[in-house]
Amino acid sequence: MEPFKYHDMLNIPYFSLDLWEKEFPHLVVGFSARRNGEDIHCRNYALHVGDRPEQVIENRKLLAKQLGIPFTAWTCGEQVHGTHVEQVTAADRGKGCDSRESAFSGTDGMITGEPDILLASYYADCVPLYFYSPDIDFVGVAHAGWKGTVQGIGIQMVQKLLQLGAKREEIRVAIGPSIGSCCYEVDERVIEPLQQVISEADTLQTIAVSHIPGKWQLDLRQANAELLKREGVSPGHIQLTKWCTSCDKDYFYSHRRDRGKTGRMVAWIGKRERGS
Ligand SMILES: [Zn+2]
Repeated sequence: MEPFKYHDMLNIPYFSLDLWEKEFPHLVVGFSARRNGEDIHCRNYALHVGDRPEQVIENRKLLAKQLGIPFTAWTCGEQVHGTHVEQVTAADRGKGCDSRESAFSGTDGMITGEPDILLASYYADCVPLYFYSPDIDFVGVAHAGWKGTVQGIGIQMVQKLLQLGAKREEIRVAIGPSIGSCCYEVDERVIEPLQQVISEADTLQTIAVSHIPGKWQLDLRQANAELLKREGVSPGHIQLTKWCTSCDKDYFYSHRRDRGKTGRMVAWIGKRERGS
């Protein structure tokens, strides 16, 4: 079953991770969208793609309002395709909400146990990994492109949750809209590092299929799911979307399809103050 649900009857189009929001009503979890292929300025949420900052900040404010979360809760990192995970405290609330300079530097993963913090990260094909461990009530989000995937950003997120006392069998992961294997052709530059971490040929064949010598159709969502299972996350606790950012152009920007000149969607997760 598709875990993400599109909402179009509202002012701001977006997908919510319905499955989690129903089971854990204090969570707010989702992924932004555009409507009918709007241009890059309409629903771009990232400050690093040459868009006017005032427009981006306005887009963020409108989305926060739609979600019923204060804009000052919006907290983000400067994504560098690395594996650093930051634990976000109450004092960090709002870092990066209105400028790149105030975001966590060199940070692709964030976790927090604090309510009223909206962890936000930006995408145009890379894979958003959402985390929730109900036993310690911590949420997290991580940006996994192919580099972050093979370097183990998902594993770092699990490790951080375990250090905080989470039980492996409690950890939930959702893998959100991103480029599908349908549209993601790669060469040995990507496949060789992937083989270093998933060496079994039969498993690799389910993740990267080759129809042309030297080219593979890579399923980066499955690669992340496989690495998370190896880290002990229960397969029943890993949810995968079917949305492809390249195919589904009415809804999404795609770095590859749009040849690098495009906007960014935002993935978010946070906890509302209980009872609010
Ligand atoms: Zn596709």
